[in-house]
Amino acid sequence: MNYSATIGLEVHVQLATRTKMFCACNTDFGSPPNTHVCPVCLGYPGALPVINEEAVRLTVMTGLMLGSEINPFSKFDRKNYFYPDMPKNYQISQYDRPLCIGGAVAIEANGVAKTIPLTRIHLEEDVAKNMHVRNASSIDFNRAGHPLMEVVTEPELDSSEEAFAFLQALKQILLYGGISPCNLEEGNLRCDVNCSVRPAGQPALGVKTEIKNLNTFKGVFQSLQYEIKRQIAVLESGGTIVQETRRWETETGITESMRSKEAAHDYRYFPDPDLMPVVLSSEQIECWKALLPELPRQRCDRLVRQYSIPPYDARVLSADKAMADYFEEACRYYASSQATRSAHAVAPSAAAGDEKLAKTGPKAISNWLMTEMLRLLSEKGIDIDQAAIRPKALAELVRLAEAQVVNSNTAKDVFAALFEQGGDPELWVKQKGLVQVSDAGAIEAMVEKAMADHPGSVADFRAGKSAALQFLVGQVMRASKGKAHPQRVQELLKKKLTTTAN
Ligand code: ZN
Ligand code: MN
Repeated sequence: MNYSATIGLEVHVQLATRTKMFCACNTDFGSPPNTHVCPVCLGYPGALPVINEEAVRLTVMTGLMLGSEINPFSKFDRKNYFYPDMPKNYQISQYDRPLCIGGAVAIEANGVAKTIPLTRIHLEEDVAKNMHVRNASSIDFNRAGHPLMEVVTEPELDSSEEAFAFLQALKQILLYGGISPCNLEEGNLRCDVNCSVRPAGQPALGVKTEIKNLNTFKGVFQSLQYEIKRQIAVLESGGTIVQETRRWETETGITESMRSKEAAHDYRYFPDPDLMPVVLSSEQIECWKALLPELPRQRCDRLVRQYSIPPYDARVLSADKAMADYFEEACRYYASSQATRSAHAVAPSAAAGDEKLAKTGPKAISNWLMTEMLRLLSEKGIDIDQAAIRPKALAELVRLAEAQVVNSNTAKDVFAALFEQGGDPELWVKQKGLVQVSDAGAIEAMVEKAMADHPGSVADFRAGKSAALQFLVGQVMRASKGKAHPQRVQELLKKKLTTTAN
């Protein structure tokens, strides 16, 4: 039997504020435990919370970017539960009046475009971090009270691929908006997923399970794949799904039951009497709306207009804000070196280059990013910010290739070297003696030597075996240690092989 899966996500996002949600404590990550604490975020009796306005603004900006309706009257509620990570025994959250209602995120998964509607976006406070060392547990309150935005989707995701694509798309929008650093290693994004399966065509949803606190996108993807398979297997064997919360075990790659619905908490939400409601005027909302940043789709359109690169390139580049920033910075360096060059009238020699290098400026930069850069980044498993080759160096490398100072193969080697250790391409090329040999006399000498050393290939070519030409080009390139200008070598060889034939 065929089954359909239904998935909903709750994404917790730590906001990029300098201070905590209800106190003035610092939000820096990585400080010694319990150094950013005060009576408010430690939950001392009698301490009074004060709303962080910046956190409200960032949440509303997110809602505006995602097309949510902004609640003009919003309030904070107490979500009551007993757990050591929350010593006041309630978390300040939002219940029936969240800051944002609705909205949507556009995704593309398995080549299909889809829009995932949101239920709501609300604001709450993060909880402390429990650490279990041998037979003791310790609590670090540095994280307690960090502004936490929760983005809740409607259950309209159909696969683990869609869930993964949703998280990537959301992350990019949050990065574009400066809403959160979205650093997964530092726990900036954490996700709860719920999931059910049902026989294909059955309108009623199946019983769902929830998997809590996933802190990697890969974890979301893998746990959903496992959970969907598990639920189908239970139904196939005639069993029933129990509504419960499950835990994802990264090491074993399975989900395990944590607690069933019967043991679920009743949070007894009620309005926090210590906090005023948040009332937003339409003027205030309009004012924030006017300050909305450029989003991935808008940037994609602009890249096509401004740099005349193909829409495909623009889509790949703008999908990652850091990549698009890198591209534009490299283009700026390229353009400014262009200006310097024409001012000094040192035009690069206009010799025929190979096809790829004939792409100049922004398109050449885009090619480097989409091929070599993406390949090396995924090989090393790092982000573009961590690549040692900086935009200025890439712009210069493109210049060197255009000016035929290096040939395309050498340029690739230079790129790979600078990717690892950074530095200035021109200096690197000079120090390593990689400057392309374009000098006609030098090339002619090498060509003549290759022809003299391989009379058999010369005869083959003249007898009509055109493949012999490539062999001879290869010999010259080898003799030049890869530095000869390949097109010139080929042209000259061809000329000599055909004109002196008799
Ligand atoms: Zn505090
Ligand atoms: Mn929450």
